[in-house]
Amino acid sequence: AKAEGRNTVRFFDPSMQAAADRQIELERDLRDGIRRQRFELHCQPQFGVGGRLVGGEVLLRSRHAGLELVGPAEFIGLAESSGLIVPLGAMVLQETCRVLARWARDPKLACLTLAVNVSAQQLRQADFVERVLATLVETGAAPHRLCLELTESVFAEDVEDVIGKMHALRAHAVSFSLDDFGTGYSSLSYLKRFPLAELKIDRSFVKDLPGDANAGAIVDAILGLARTLKLQVVAEGVETEAQRDFLVAHGCGVLQGYLFGKPVAMEEFERVWGGAM
Ligand code: C2E
Ligand code: CA
Ligand code: CA
Ligand code: CA
Repeated sequence: AKAEGRNTVRFFDPSMQAAADRQIELERDLRDGIRRQRFELHCQPQFGVGGRLVGGEVLLRSRHAGLELVGPAEFIGLAESSGLIVPLGAMVLQETCRVLARWARDPKLACLTLAVNVSAQQLRQADFVERVLATLVETGAAPHRLCLELTESVFAEDVEDVIGKMHALRAHAVSFSLDDFGTGYSSLSYLKRFPLAELKIDRSFVKDLPGDANAGAIVDAILGLARTLKLQVVAEGVETEAQRDFLVAHGCGVLQGYLFGKPVAMEEFERVWGGAM
């Protein structure tokens, strides 16, 4: 056994130790960031086809030592694998509800909806429904202004449990959107069973519009499906006028993307779109 142990040591790759150390350091950073409230909400506007602002999607950023802004690609994965996504997600939800309560006093912002990304792990919390409702009550946010974005990964969860939670929140006027639609475990039979209000067409399909016939056919099929199921559709990642024109001509109701506006700090969003608050 001793010889085997030595063998193990002999084959041990020092770069693996370095990676493990790095992982621990990143996790400490993340925990620390949550405690010190180093995260900021950014918001990307969403527009109706007539050009009217209808709401925004909340996107998380991390401010490092008051300097560079770090995007979620850098920390969401770790937050998920470490379980820290649960307190982080709770913070995002609470901040978002505070924003909604504030917006209720501004005539220009009062009619807007805010969409928040919710990870499958958050939804898996036994008291998820109670937490969301408590946050709404605590902040005074109007539930019908809050939309929760889920990904198709929830199809791999305990489906009955997820559907039950969605119904419970929907009974309080909170709505649900299915994010990144078409990229994951799309099961059309599930789609009908989930009480969704909205589908978001993933950027990977929008990207190749209008030139690519396959992308066009897929987007068309999604829009047709949504019409049948009476779901609103948001196209994400709209970057060009040609993409916009295709989407509008094919019946997409809401558009989001760099063509209309990048995500900006929530305060800037309020400055640009709000009246005097
Ligand atoms: P997502 O939910 O699909 O969000 C859309 C992403 O596309 C955002 O990236 C947004 O900045 C980007 N985007 C929007 N319009 C365009 C465009 O026209 N062109 C291009 N190239 N990109 C565009 P971001 O902010 O880096 O977020 C990445 C992902 O991180 C999100 O993807 C979401 O899955 C996750 N995320 C962000 N905030 C949260 C959060 O608070 N909680 C959770 N669980 N996940 C979050
Ligand atoms: Ca999203
Ligand atoms: Ca998305
Ligand atoms: Ca996406």
